[in-house]
Amino acid sequence: MNVEEGTPCGGRQGVVSYTLSPETIEALKTPTFDVWQWAPNEMLSCLEYMYHGLGLVRDFNINPITLKRWLLNVQENYKDNPFHNFRHSFSVTQMMHGLVYLCELQGMRELILATDMERHKDIMSDFSQCVEVFNFTNPEHVRLLEQILIKCCDTSNEVRPLQVSDPWVDCLLQEYFMQGDREKAEGLPVTPFMDRARVSKPHTQIIFITSILVPMVESLSKLFPQLDDVLLSPLKATRDEYQLWNEERNQLEPLPGTPVIQISI
Ligand SMILES: [Zn+2]
Repeated sequence: MNVEEGTPCGGRQGVVSYTLSPETIEALKTPTFDVWQWAPNEMLSCLEYMYHGLGLVRDFNINPITLKRWLLNVQENYKDNPFHNFRHSFSVTQMMHGLVYLCELQGMRELILATDMERHKDIMSDFSQCVEVFNFTNPEHVRLLEQILIKCCDTSNEVRPLQVSDPWVDCLLQEYFMQGDREKAEGLPVTPFMDRARVSKPHTQIIFITSILVPMVESLSKLFPQLDDVLLSPLKATRDEYQLWNEERNQLEPLPGTPVIQISI
């Protein structure tokens, strides 16, 4: 990614600065933050605020203009996908910002990208073992914690209130179904979880929450018990909602052998 440095008037227009209200600043620290209600330039301001608020600008001596330009570049380079778009990156960043506050992790900032779901099982089993004897001075333990935190933030729409999280599921399914349709059109075998004729939203959500999210958040909350109330309980409530939805749905039109959805991040 190119970041133009040192030329304050160097060609990028439209950097709008907003003053965020105290309510917004507080809300940015919580998983109940509504990521849908912000226009792109407002998301940019919130992102900028979070970088400043975490002390990153100060500690890494980042030029504030460079930060603005970099964020704009990030925004401009995101494709307009239904799910994997700029708002998704905003949502992931906001969740990480919230967790850093909730878990009082301001000292821990150099997070490693660990968003590859193929490594989910390995990372989870390593972390589950290390959480029992966790030691903040052990670099290997801290590295595993960083990976779990990144994964949590990237896949944790479902810990947000249902009215915030459920539209994300529709976006993800739309992205998958578009690909499934392309596969059909080209006469290729359709990836099961991308086949709109076979996927049931509530069913796949129950599987995803139960098999991926709940174990991940449970092991994290062994280390940070304060996450029980803010992440785990809402997550289980969301699962219960989908459970009800699924039961209603099954009475109407049972789907034979609904495939289990896979997540990409
Ligand atoms: Zn992602």
